[in-house]
Amino acid sequence: MFVPETLMAALTELADEYARAKADPAFQAELDGLLRDYVGRPTPLYFAEGWTQKLGGARIYLKREDLLHTGAHKINNALGQILLAKRLGKTRIIAETGAGQHGVATATVAARFGMECVIYMGAVDMERQYLNVVRMRLLGAEVRPVHAGQATLKEAVNEAMRDWVTNVQGTHYILGSALGSHPFPMIVRDFHRVIGVEARRQILEREGRLPDVLVACVGGGSNSIGLFHPFIDDPSVRMVGVEAGGHGILPGEHAARFQGGRLGVLQGTKTWLLANEDGQIELTHSVSAGLDYAAIGPEHAWLHDQGRVVYRYATDSEALEGFSELSAVEGIIPALESSHALAEVRKLAPSMAKDEIIIVNLSGRGDKDVAQAAKFLLGEDS
Ligand SMILES: *Cc1c(COP(=O)(O)O)cnc(C)c1O
Repeated sequence: MFVPETLMAALTELADEYARAKADPAFQAELDGLLRDYVGRPTPLYFAEGWTQKLGGARIYLKREDLLHTGAHKINNALGQILLAKRLGKTRIIAETGAGQHGVATATVAARFGMECVIYMGAVDMERQYLNVVRMRLLGAEVRPVHAGQATLKEAVNEAMRDWVTNVQGTHYILGSALGSHPFPMIVRDFHRVIGVEARRQILEREGRLPDVLVACVGGGSNSIGLFHPFIDDPSVRMVGVEAGGHGILPGEHAARFQGGRLGVLQGTKTWLLANEDGQIELTHSVSAGLDYAAIGPEHAWLHDQGRVVYRYATDSEALEGFSELSAVEGIIPALESSHALAEVRKLAPSMAKDEIIIVNLSGRGDKDVAQAAKFLLGEDS
């Protein structure tokens, strides 16, 4: 818990209340009901028959988080946390957002529960992701531009933490990934575990056995830890996390923390991150805004160091190839973040036997990425 003293009381209160909520059947029942009727769970586990045939190896299943309300897995966590905020008697919600996806998920649940909502967003990101800014405002949130530094996600997190320190009495900070100080990485993981719990049940029903490999993209690490965690004690299940390789593994050109990264402390957590010799955080790049962050969730650092999960990376152009292929072959336009996992499947599947099984997490849908993809794929300006 690498945080200022002023936040320790709030974090301890959160951890204690979360422990009580977890043990309370009424909390689980409310969460489950809303996940079903409001968010759209369970999501299908879809056998990608055409893509399997095309790649000519392992049987590929897609876990369809792209079909959830607001278009990605992030709402699983936003919903769980706002229910916690309600238990804590908080009436004001704050969050940080990079591309705007977590901001939209948070603004959505804040609207649903009638809470005041402030979203911190880098001024540069606000320009790049203007549509999501409009969405958040429609949902009743105030979007506060952050002009410091690079005016992107890292600075937005700093500003959200500053707000929380100042207003901690009535305010809950809905952190958007399996990151930050304890208890956030644990809480965010637990709210996304439903992905892996469902996938496990669905594959056992469908194939009568566990999968051979799980694949998911890793930004902060929430969709991946959600899929992986219920399988951690199954030694036969291999797991691959895919980071953003950007333009390639050169300083400032990627966001692959396990390539070229090292141990350090950033924004409340000790983990693998991208920093120079002096500990200054390096710039990152990825075609997908959701994977573009200098640190990785601390549980991934642990799973990496244990050797339980293997971490690879996909470059921008590999991700874009996955993006196009899934669209053309399956009629599903994936998020550019998820497309990094798809790029790994394209490398893995052909080398596997035809009776082996891959489950890949389709963390979000790609409607938001069409303009970005057009720029690269069609050489169009947007
Ligand atoms: C935000 C986002 C991610 C990356 O975040 P994680 O916490 O690593 O899951 C991945 N996919 C989509 C669609 C996202 O919106």
